[in-house]
Amino acid sequence: MSAAAEPKLRVRNATKAYPTRSGDVLALDHCSLDVRPGEIVSIVGPSGCGKTTLLWSMSGLHGLTAGDVLLDGKEITGPNPEIGMVFQDANLLPWRNLEANIHFPFEIKGTKPDRIWIDELLNRVGLEGFGGKFPRELSGGMQQRAALVRALSFKPSVLLMDEPFGALDAFTREEMNRMVEEIWLDSPTTIVLITHSIEEAIFLSDRIVVMTPRPGRVAAIHDVPFPRPRSLEIMSTREVFDLTNAIKAEIVGKQQSRYADPVPQPAQ
Ligand code: ADP
Ligand code: MG
Repeated sequence: MSAAAEPKLRVRNATKAYPTRSGDVLALDHCSLDVRPGEIVSIVGPSGCGKTTLLWSMSGLHGLTAGDVLLDGKEITGPNPEIGMVFQDANLLPWRNLEANIHFPFEIKGTKPDRIWIDELLNRVGLEGFGGKFPRELSGGMQQRAALVRALSFKPSVLLMDEPFGALDAFTREEMNRMVEEIWLDSPTTIVLITHSIEEAIFLSDRIVVMTPRPGRVAAIHDVPFPRPRSLEIMSTREVFDLTNAIKAEIVGKQQSRYADPVPQPAQ
């Protein structure tokens, strides 16, 4: 992609104040960020720094106090079918089976689901044959796969994910990361991912955005230059170790917490 290509998503001076009884809470303050078409960008930062607020403003589901978000150069003013979302909780309706859950947003909109595409997605995430199962019959990882299929069923050009694998065990999480990379390599959607895991961010991203503590804005952006598909071997290289520590130091330094873990030093 040429450097001159128009950003897929452009956040300009996003500022968000939440009114509360004890006064306004400033969650974002002149936060600006461009996301290029087809790239995977991760957002990391201290808890409460405004990551979720930023993602929701990108989705058009929440308005900003000031600033704007552009999708393909046009201001986002409300929910947009071009944008899919996945949250930490799969939010599946317990009384509907998996297929009915995936079809639910189509029912709400009164549009017809593309069953062939949905079957292909279910296949890709290893859920073929599970359409008749209810959420309680599925593991956490399977529920998140279903949530991913539901988000992708609309063929969005942007996928926003808010700590989607944060509640999963480490192995399932790695599996999910590989699956997201595979799907993305097949059809490169623009992805913005919030994560607490620097490892996950490095495995999946083209760039990693580090945010300041609240009020959130961009503190640093790191390129992640490793070739794809990324193997787990890459994750144990010196380069990844150094990048992980650099990002950790930025986040910990910005938290200014006396409880923060010291940054580990490599063995000599
Ligand atoms: P993060 O996702 O980085 O943890 P959030 O975007 O959820 O951060 O929140 C940023 C700040 O805004 C936090 O201090 C949070 O308490 C506050 N906040 C978020 N949502 C609301 C709300 N609806 N009302 C008041 N304060 C809120
Ligand atoms: Mg959050």
